[in-house]
Amino acid sequence: MTRRLLLAGGGHSHIEVLRRWALAPEPGVTVTLLSPDRWTAYSGMLPGLIAGHYRHHECHIDLDALCAAAGATRIAAMVTALNPTAQEVVTSRGDIIRYDRLAIDIGSTPATGGIAGAGRLGIPIKPVADFLAQWQILCSAALNAPRPLELAVVGGGAAGVETILAMQHRIATEGGRARFTLVGDAAQLLPAQPPAVRQRFAAVFAARGIGLRLGQTVTGVRADGLEFADGSTLACDEVFWINGAAPAPWLRASGIHCDAGGFLSIDATLRSVSYPDVFGSGDAAGMGHAPRPKSGVYAVRQGPPLHDNLRRSLRGEPLSEYRPQRRALALISTGDRQAIAVYGPLSCHGAWVWRWKDNIDRAFMARYRVS
Ligand SMILES: Cc1cc2nc3c(=O)[nH]c(=O)nc-3n(C[C@H](O)[C@H](O)[C@H](O)COP(=O)(O)OP(=O)(O)OC[C@H]3O[C@@H](n4cnc5c(N)ncnc54)[C@H](O)[C@@H]3O)c2cc1C
Repeated sequence: MTRRLLLAGGGHSHIEVLRRWALAPEPGVTVTLLSPDRWTAYSGMLPGLIAGHYRHHECHIDLDALCAAAGATRIAAMVTALNPTAQEVVTSRGDIIRYDRLAIDIGSTPATGGIAGAGRLGIPIKPVADFLAQWQILCSAALNAPRPLELAVVGGGAAGVETILAMQHRIATEGGRARFTLVGDAAQLLPAQPPAVRQRFAAVFAARGIGLRLGQTVTGVRADGLEFADGSTLACDEVFWINGAAPAPWLRASGIHCDAGGFLSIDATLRSVSYPDVFGSGDAAGMGHAPRPKSGVYAVRQGPPLHDNLRRSLRGEPLSEYRPQRRALALISTGDRQAIAVYGPLSCHGAWVWRWKDNIDRAFMARYRVS
């Protein structure tokens, strides 16, 4: 009997599932990918694309080509609801799709839920395709602006820091006019990083003339700027949301077990703790047994064990356990073809770190290029 494997989202784990499926298809299994976009962004190179160092195709993976190689079908739609008891999902096209195994790798979106007006105003970093379209428009506007545009990035973690530095570099090198402010609710820039790394970045921000508004919680956004919990405001022409990670609301609404943040609860085999025919990975899933930050590194590392366990589950074999690494190397770019490497308490900075990162990223992308 044919069994149906449904992959929801073309995230960092599912590209590896498709790549491995292409090398050895499983007899009697049909694979369907639900992804609204043909191209999925590789997050490690996204700041380089924003900065103008890469072209679109260099940091996007062609899901249609991967699907074709894997004998899979892509349906150009989002999942909008899940009924895990009936083993079916509802798509943004209104279709109901049934599955025997479902894997969810749909990422997350910025956590703007508590900010008044954020649903209408500002530009979220995800979905990436929408963000990139808006960024292009803003680059053109900065070139022709009669006065410097005031731009704010909300999010003081690694993604927000990399993005604002990339934006500032791009606009400055193209001769555009803009002033940037990074806004974060933690008292420090990059609160998860060691003090030496925070100091390195503080020096880069000062040298590049980027303002900091730290230790303040954004409560609202208006057409002319941001409002903070202490009653103060920041005037700006545009704001970018790169703060935190929020789950898709339909996960919790489906009744499947979710963690306190609303992310799909998975066990050490990457399987849902409440429905054994549902798997999850990447930002969308929470490893309650071994919590890790929402980071592409873990989504990438989960790809091979997810692939193995989907196959084992379809065959009725016992699943294997995945143990996430305790600590990951972070290569955080500064927008100007330099980067800072961080491993535990150790860090270093320079153009050579960027070249190292560039080599790693290009080698990663080459794995998913289907000739
Ligand atoms: C600017 C920036 C830079 C970053 N740099 C790094 C870095 O250098 N290293 C690192 O480790 N992490 C980095 N991150 C974090 C990283 O982006 C995420 O942790 C990573 O993308 C998570 O991968 P994922 O597979 O969970 O989801 P994603 O990569 O977000 O992929 C999810 C996919 O699912 C699709 N999708 C979404 N919703 C649905 C739906 N309902 N139905 C179907 N499909 C859907 C999306 O279109 C997307 O293609 C960065 C993040 C940002 C914003």
